[in-house]
Amino acid sequence: MSFSYNDHEESFTNLPVYLHNIQRINPDSYTYIKIDVLDRFQLCFVVIRCVINAFLGCMLPVIFIGNVRIRGEYLNSMFVAVAMDGNKNTTPIAFGIGVANNVNSCTWFLMKLKDAIGEGREVAFITDMDDTISSYVGQVFLDAYHGYSSKSVLIYCRLRIGHSKNLDYLFFRPCKAYTTQDFQQSFSKLSDAAREVLTNIGNKKWARAYFPNIRWNVLNINIPEFLSVLSVTQRNVPIISLIDTIVQYIQQTFAESSVIGGLLSTVFTPYAEMVLHKRMQKSLGWKVAKIPPEFPSPFPSDIFRVFDLKRTCVVDLNRHTCSCGKWCSLGIACGHAISAARYTNNTELIDMVQIYYRVDVFRTAYQTRNVNVIPPAAEWEIPEPLMVILIPM
Ligand SMILES: [Zn+2]
Repeated sequence: MSFSYNDHEESFTNLPVYLHNIQRINPDSYTYIKIDVLDRFQLCFVVIRCVINAFLGCMLPVIFIGNVRIRGEYLNSMFVAVAMDGNKNTTPIAFGIGVANNVNSCTWFLMKLKDAIGEGREVAFITDMDDTISSYVGQVFLDAYHGYSSKSVLIYCRLRIGHSKNLDYLFFRPCKAYTTQDFQQSFSKLSDAAREVLTNIGNKKWARAYFPNIRWNVLNINIPEFLSVLSVTQRNVPIISLIDTIVQYIQQTFAESSVIGGLLSTVFTPYAEMVLHKRMQKSLGWKVAKIPPEFPSPFPSDIFRVFDLKRTCVVDLNRHTCSCGKWCSLGIACGHAISAARYTNNTELIDMVQIYYRVDVFRTAYQTRNVNVIPPAAEWEIPEPLMVILIPM
């Protein structure tokens, strides 16, 4: 078929054909279009199958959902779901483009995202506090943890009690504390006004010591810059061209990470190797003592007391916990756990680091299947029956 990429009306009319071809060359992908009672376009949703598979099997189970404002004649809003791999790279895993950022579009996008994620995977969600969609995450993902990005919580505080360097400094100490004890100490140093604002938000929404483990230490996930500046670079672009640009971006991101994965020769990703190296170096010389079991047992004790030259922490190598909170929070053994393992002559760290940080898992994410970009319009297949889409008001 012939098709003009520059014509808005033609772009809306041909959107069902275009999305059909996304699914044809990326089998089992999810694409949906929401229209109003007069068949006018409202919102569309796109998830490429291999991208959501990479997320479900190989990336940290945390999703940031945000909105990018688009300045167009017809299109005003883009929803983006962004995930993070074990090397701290961010990848858009789902997006929606529409005419408005309101209750209907937010819940529709979240419902479609829920379908794409499917059952059986526990996922945490992070949003900015001031984003409209943050009000609806809990209504769609009923049992999931939902917290706010720490940056947006700080901005919310600044707006209510005024901006000061002191607030910025004092906010991040309780925000990043690993234990509730450390949290209480640093929280008490904030002003009365700041404490009141933060208490009303709820500690588990922003303070690491109160996160369920599933937040994986993720305080913020940024929308990739390429997407966040779309309103500038793709101003008033017809919808098919806009989706095409985003699919090409995702394809490039995957291709680049696939190359990086092929070059890595370590057991863990560069990020995890860096964390482990620092923790191994820092923990040299820490004092370790085995805690005997409370009751006589034929099995060796896996519980240790580790003095790190400042304080003593208790490590349970069997349960993968340490009283410092860092092992659970990040999924990478803390210095105390590394010391305890060293004490037992175990230098194999593979079981003390979550699988998302392993290079073989990283490679699986990006090398199992490619994201395929859409061929020229002349090669498009036309679906039957063809959905009617009219240009929005
Ligand atoms: Zn520890």
